[in-house]
Amino acid sequence: MKPHPLRFLGILVVLASLPRVAPASAQQWLHDDGSKTNKSMFRVLEEWPDPNDYRNAAGMPGPRYWQQQADYRIEVALDTTDHSLHGSERITYHNNSPDVLRFLWVQLDQNQASEEYSRSRAAAGAMPARVSPMARRFLGLEPSDAGYTLTRVQLVRPDGSLVDADHRINNTIMRVNLEEPLQPGGVQRLDIDWHHIVPDAGRGAKELVTDGWLYENAQWFPRMSVYDDVNGWQTDQFMGRGEFYLEFGNYDVSITVPWNHIVDATGELQNPEEVLTATQRQRLEEAYRSEEPKFVIRPDEVMKPESRPTRSGTLTWHFKAENVRDFAWISSKTYVWDAAGFRYRPDSKVIEIHSLYPRDAMPLWDKVSTRATIQTMKTYGRLAFEYPYPKAVNANGPVGGMEYPMIAFCGRRPQPDGTYSDATERGLIGVTVHEVGHNWFPMIVATDERKWTWMDEGLNSFLQYYGERDYAKTYCGKQWTQTADCEYPAETQRGPAPNIVEYMRDPDQEPLMTESDLIAKDFGNNGYAKPATGLVMLREHVLGEKAFDDAFHYYAQGWMFKHPQPADFFRSMEEGAGENLAWFWRGWFYTTHANDQAIGDVSVQAAQELIGDDSRGQYYYRVKVDNAGGLVMPLEIEVTFADGTTERHDFPVDVWRNNELTFTAGFFGDKEVVEIVVDPDQAYADIDRSNNVWKRPITE
Ligand SMILES: [Zn+2]
Repeated sequence: MKPHPLRFLGILVVLASLPRVAPASAQQWLHDDGSKTNKSMFRVLEEWPDPNDYRNAAGMPGPRYWQQQADYRIEVALDTTDHSLHGSERITYHNNSPDVLRFLWVQLDQNQASEEYSRSRAAAGAMPARVSPMARRFLGLEPSDAGYTLTRVQLVRPDGSLVDADHRINNTIMRVNLEEPLQPGGVQRLDIDWHHIVPDAGRGAKELVTDGWLYENAQWFPRMSVYDDVNGWQTDQFMGRGEFYLEFGNYDVSITVPWNHIVDATGELQNPEEVLTATQRQRLEEAYRSEEPKFVIRPDEVMKPESRPTRSGTLTWHFKAENVRDFAWISSKTYVWDAAGFRYRPDSKVIEIHSLYPRDAMPLWDKVSTRATIQTMKTYGRLAFEYPYPKAVNANGPVGGMEYPMIAFCGRRPQPDGTYSDATERGLIGVTVHEVGHNWFPMIVATDERKWTWMDEGLNSFLQYYGERDYAKTYCGKQWTQTADCEYPAETQRGPAPNIVEYMRDPDQEPLMTESDLIAKDFGNNGYAKPATGLVMLREHVLGEKAFDDAFHYYAQGWMFKHPQPADFFRSMEEGAGENLAWFWRGWFYTTHANDQAIGDVSVQAAQELIGDDSRGQYYYRVKVDNAGGLVMPLEIEVTFADGTTERHDFPVDVWRNNELTFTAGFFGDKEVVEIVVDPDQAYADIDRSNNVWKRPITE
């Protein structure tokens, strides 16, 4: 018998002619529960609130969007004998809402470290057999009392006189009753005096380094709770994890410390001639002229009396910051200080870059910190918006990584002998990009961190991925020598899809759309890695870089200095990209389903028989792909021919519109197919790659 021309393929030969389009069949939905209702992954997201005058359907602030403003004038003194802060503040609260307010809520986050008031300590339950030092710090399990002692809570009457305020402390928040209802457009001033011990650990903490004590002060003053159109007053307790949601305002802060301390903070220093030497002021001016870090205080000058303008008593450092949502500061006599200047364009205003660290942090901080901060300005400036503040500080201390407007706290140091591993160096690059990067999300795009971790940590980890890669390229062969090809090791990053596969296999994960303090398991993958990976996937594979960047700019720039909610992000991304992404948000953010595409049958037919000629190739191949996971994702297929050449056939997610369970891809070819791989770039976090490959069966 004459051999059939297709026999050499050794694969199933389908001769029966098939209609080009499969016959209509019933909808096949991945999550059909028999309820006879629309269960399509592509359906409209019923979870979103209706758009309104405050937040519109395009995901932008609506025509009647409003937010409150809280301005602060604070005087604070650091007492290094008992490690305490004594502060006095006047809050000027602007009611920009359309509502009449009869009381105010104030955040007392420091009470998370209070023996009397800490809700998280009260709710902690029995200690497990082992608690990591990190967890111990963040959960506040160590016995110590660093909560607030409030010594004065007074309302300021319109005539300027003071009256004790009726107030009630509810653990980490405080209600202050007003004498007169605060009308829309009105202003209420509130005075509070307090003191507390700087905690040993947490988001703000003190540390004894080789040269002495250093202090990183955060959540150190009573701050206004947010009143918005979504929550009313946001009164969620600070449990130690769900972070902060704060109003924008202007700050005028005077910080009194021992004469030998160096202070840096959110905001611009107002009195450099009183607290810095002439040499230091001159070095700063020189440093701002270039991106190359220069010492303002050299290691050999640390604690030398001539490095200070006075030799006794205290000095008061005065800072002002406009339009920030928080204020943090550092103080120590142990600081080495380097600085540089960054400009987006030669003619644009300089952004002052500062790094402060004890000598224990050298050599490493002097190499990495200022450079990684500048890289953050560049990468985040390109992908989101240009940094609008006049300065950025990175400071080393006991806090592993925390972010505040214009100032970041980062851990990581070399070994006592001055050596450090590649991982430690990458750790400092990564944490610097991350914490400085938080200036964008959530310090400027000011989301409700107490509820939605992914909105700041996820978006920030996504940008960190690019910041790290850019750092390796920018400083390749100079300060970056870990890889010769200038590539940052992808396997160490949050962002690449293969790195999230193990988490996607976990049947006990929570959806990303879970409030921060309800995430029971694997907070790092949930809050940081999975959302970052999803956005990399969207940018590099689903939408493409241009469409994604258009959309991300639209979201980020549209919400600068405002308070977006999850639906605002989702809507604005769709609007900006010009894509309905309901399937993606539903799958990746609202569920814990995983992706598993599996090759089923592969068959071939003579093109002659199918279309009557060979004009498009001798053969027509069909590749059946089953959707064995719970997500719909685009379908990418790589075909390898017998001669070793390959060909890509990429299909949009729309292949699953009418049948979410299975899809048969078809294509013409002239050559013999020997291998087919689904998701060849490992772009979609497929949890079972054993079914992603088909090889020609050997039949002889
Ligand atoms: Zn973070």
